[in-house]
Amino acid sequence: MTTIARKIQMVDLIGQYQKIQKEVDDAVLNVIRSSAYINGPEVKSFKAELEAYLKVKHVIPCANGTDALQIAMMALGLKPGDEVITADFTYVATAEVIALLGLKPVLVDVYPDTFDINVEAIEKAITPNTKAIVPVHLFGQCADMERILAVAKKHNLFVIEDTAQAIGADYTFSDGRVAKAGTMGDVGCTSFFPSKNLGCFGDGGAMYTNSDDLAAKMQMIANHGQSVQYYHDSIGVNSRLDSIQAAILRIKLRHLDNYAAARNKAADYYDKAFAGHPKLKTPKRAKNTNHVFHQYTLQLSGADRSALKDFLAKKEIPMMIYYPVPLHLQKAYLDPRYKQGDFPVTEQLCSSVFSLPMHTELDEETLKYITDSVKEFLK
Ligand SMILES: *Cc1c(COP(=O)(O)O)cnc(C)c1O
Repeated sequence: MTTIARKIQMVDLIGQYQKIQKEVDDAVLNVIRSSAYINGPEVKSFKAELEAYLKVKHVIPCANGTDALQIAMMALGLKPGDEVITADFTYVATAEVIALLGLKPVLVDVYPDTFDINVEAIEKAITPNTKAIVPVHLFGQCADMERILAVAKKHNLFVIEDTAQAIGADYTFSDGRVAKAGTMGDVGCTSFFPSKNLGCFGDGGAMYTNSDDLAAKMQMIANHGQSVQYYHDSIGVNSRLDSIQAAILRIKLRHLDNYAAARNKAADYYDKAFAGHPKLKTPKRAKNTNHVFHQYTLQLSGADRSALKDFLAKKEIPMMIYYPVPLHLQKAYLDPRYKQGDFPVTEQLCSSVFSLPMHTELDEETLKYITDSVKEFLK
């Protein structure tokens, strides 16, 4: 049995909330008392504050990260049959919206050490029908954006960054220019799902762009395709961030860099504790990007992963598998173009990765208990 007072969780949302409770409670009550529940001043302020934080011209809040991806693809004018390249190793939402819009998801493998989309594989997958690339900044660090943007430019493709897991991460170009994840391509799409690095207390999401034209289109699509009330210029959707969520996000945005620092501190502890372990491969920090550790994901070899999960569960330590099945082997995405063995890196990762608790409230005592327990099983 654990000696630790609070139950260990993958993400400790209560612990994080308690530290900002008074401020959050007041902000939520203020919205309730104001009755400006939709598109109120909190949403406008959050939008402006996130634009300033990201140094991006436009942030368009919406209802969730999946909607953000969908609205971005609609605004870019992608048409049924257009091919969109994305990673086989990702959360399903990325490919889901591609398929939902009648576009053709074209999957490519990832790099085995950083889990990022493989840029050589992107180039090989390009055909005359390719219209866009969706790099996923998986687990909290940026894909190799400089090379991806070069490929996109050469082939005249849109780049939609799925930055649901990497809000706040910085990417450094070879000329020294630094940009936030999601602000480098045509559009960046993020999620404020509670367990994301900047999470609200429900669903939320946003698109980012530096293009005035795209911003206007996304704003319009997110609001039933209307630019003037009751005049509908395009078919849109209903996708809004609630004022209550915006009020919470404004407070948490001020802590985001500290949250990332706390996550990095935990990751450093894990790295050190597992360094050189013959059965464990710690996550590699990619070049040109810092890591905001949405997840701390290891690769296991020479041991049974589900037995490790059971062993840890008995010690009340959760572990998760992100992700157990490659997209091309998911029932909904089976396609005669793809078969088992086509994406060997992703397939290998899906059978070997596991993620340990990662959040802003991990203390050394807990980290020691977790890492000692993992090592005890692997002895
Ligand atoms: C969470 C997530 C999404 C979707 O965000 P929701 O707000 O849950 O719709 C999309 N892509 C990735 C990589 C994610 O992790």
